[in-house]
Amino acid sequence: MSDAVGLCAACAHARVIENRRGSRFWLCERARIDPSFARYPRLPVLACAGFERAPRPPTPPGAEDEPA
Ligand code: SF4
Repeated sequence: MSDAVGLCAACAHARVIENRRGSRFWLCERARIDPSFARYPRLPVLACAGFERAPRPPTPPGAEDEPA
């Protein structure tokens, strides 16, 4: 788990958004259907009732092109 991000870094419901200035934000997809979740959770998320471990961690934009 990333210390700065917390549970969202390993959650199936997290998506990484990058703005034009290169800043990254962690979006919670659960917020779309459940208003009790913050669209942009305050990090680090240390406890979350909606957490479900992702098979693979969310990939930041552009990271797909980087060599392993
Ligand atoms: S459900 Fe919880 S852990 Fe998962 S992305 Fe949303 S806030 Fe983060």
